[in-house]
Amino acid sequence: STFSALGIRKEYIQSIKELGISTPSEIQEKTIPILLQSETDFIGLAQTGTGKTAAFGLPVLHHIDTNEANIQALILSPTRELVQQIKKQLFKFTKYNEEKIFIEAVFGGEKIDRQIGNLKRTTHIVVATPGRLIDLIERGSIDISHVKTVILDEADEMLSMGFKQDLNRILKFTTESNRKTWLFSATMPEEIKKIIKTYMDANAPRVE
Ligand code: AMP
Repeated sequence: STFSALGIRKEYIQSIKELGISTPSEIQEKTIPILLQSETDFIGLAQTGTGKTAAFGLPVLHHIDTNEANIQALILSPTRELVQQIKKQLFKFTKYNEEKIFIEAVFGGEKIDRQIGNLKRTTHIVVATPGRLIDLIERGSIDISHVKTVILDEADEMLSMGFKQDLNRILKFTTESNRKTWLFSATMPEEIKKIIKTYMDANAPRVE
């Protein structure tokens, strides 16, 4: 298949091509049409290195309404390195966009004041480690009330790193107000199944 046949817009096809991404990987082929088409919960069983970032990242970018200056998508990932990597990739994907999409990364280990300052500017997508996100929510420094989609990247890793309580707090808030959750995980331990059962649509499409 081609990215064009999957529904990816021209400007993104151009930018990903420059990153060496020209033929969809298996997970991209299965995931992109679902995440572009419908507002739905989603479960993806995927290892790193399979092209998972573009599989969820390109659909996220397609869904952002740049006329609205608020946070519309939240991407949670276990480590500072992964958070920065995702932000960097998404930023590169937007190289040829006519309307700018603003993406911020927030993570522990960096001065929170700087991140609070950055969040005062227009932000459409936040990529975060769960602990830092909770911290920002508690300080009233981030408004997640307009978030439509929450993406859990490497959900199993986030749990094994001790973010269970933080994740539950975030998901409790977002799913109570009917936001969509896209969960990606390399493995499906009981704890992940429990998160799916508690917070996600039982009929959510699954890809592995
Ligand atoms: P990820 O699994 O998202 O961390 O991606 C791993 C690496 O594969 C990144 O360097 C991507 O730029 C690259 N990549 C992602 N999708 C493709 C693709 N369809 N073809 C070639 N490289 C890709």
